[in-house]
Amino acid sequence: MNAVIPMPAVPLVPVVGGGVFPVRRIYCVGRNYVEHAQEMGFTGREPPFFFMKPADAVVPVADGQTGLVDYPTLTQSLHHEIELVVAIGTGGRNIAAADAARHIYGYAIGLDMTRRDLQGEMKKQGRPWCIGKGFDQSAPIGPIHPKAATGELNRGAITLSVNGQPRQSGDLGQLIWSVGEILEHLSAAWALAPGDLVFTGTPAGVGAVVAGDSMVGAVEGLGSLKVTLR
Ligand code: MN
Repeated sequence: MNAVIPMPAVPLVPVVGGGVFPVRRIYCVGRNYVEHAQEMGFTGREPPFFFMKPADAVVPVADGQTGLVDYPTLTQSLHHEIELVVAIGTGGRNIAAADAARHIYGYAIGLDMTRRDLQGEMKKQGRPWCIGKGFDQSAPIGPIHPKAATGELNRGAITLSVNGQPRQSGDLGQLIWSVGEILEHLSAAWALAPGDLVFTGTPAGVGAVVAGDSMVGAVEGLGSLKVTLR
């Protein structure tokens, strides 16, 4: 059967060591580090919750390259959120936390870019967050490192600097809900499939960036992710 419109491209993220990872869905976890939950006005004791970004929100940044992202429309408060991203290689439903590791293909560094003013307005009105979280180019991501090479990532520094100034700093060991627990909760709500990306939450220190700013995110074991706003 011929497609009657141009076939949408599947977003592809480069894999360290060769190949590409086709993206199916992007899941994100909200408030998964205590200090960030507190800076957003919560206790950090809430159960995990999820939102999504469209797959084509990814901006893949190859190893050693600098990603270019356009400052988005409609916002006066674009925030950075540096996050560990888990790439699903084997799908499943009702995955137990203890069994989650075998579903992971690899890991990447990602930025959950957020139109904070629009997100705040939607929260206030009890409306969906899509416009604040799921906009074009809202998910810059570095190359995927196969778990076969990194091993399981359960601790290690996660940081972000803007124009050379430290902004965010934490440790993967501070996740309120571990990667395994996240996948357990997620897979109870949705069937996970190969190609899914899971943004696991951001440490404290989120803040605004403007056009011209240069962000450098790092996760121990995954190198760094450089993104410039234009
Ligand atoms: Mn986030």
